[in-house]
Amino acid sequence: MSGLHQKVCLNHHEREAVARCPGCGHFYCRECISEHDGRIICAACLRKLLRPVEKQQSPVFRWVARATAFGLSLLTGWYAFYLVGKILLSIPTDFHNGTVWHNDLFPPP
Ligand SMILES: [Zn+2]
Ligand SMILES: [Zn+2]
Repeated sequence: MSGLHQKVCLNHHEREAVARCPGCGHFYCRECISEHDGRIICAACLRKLLRPVEKQQSPVFRWVARATAFGLSLLTGWYAFYLVGKILLSIPTDFHNGTVWHNDLFPPP
């Protein structure tokens, strides 16, 4: 970056540029740039980057996501207990009476 010293800030023409924004390619002074995700970026590009994120995490979106997660967990829990009930019903009645354990080795009293 040998040509950086001759460049001036896009917003402040009296100030020397310290960095070039990778988003728009313009040169900026220390005051006009900020760090975002380990990258040096200008304020305009930072706003552009953050806007879709704000839209995605709107309160309505979060509420819908939370309600969907709650409904899915409730459904999963209900299905798990339903399967356990099915298995318990499929076990023969002899098992519940305790007679299934009686065989030639352990005859009923
Ligand atoms: Zn930029
Ligand atoms: Zn500046």
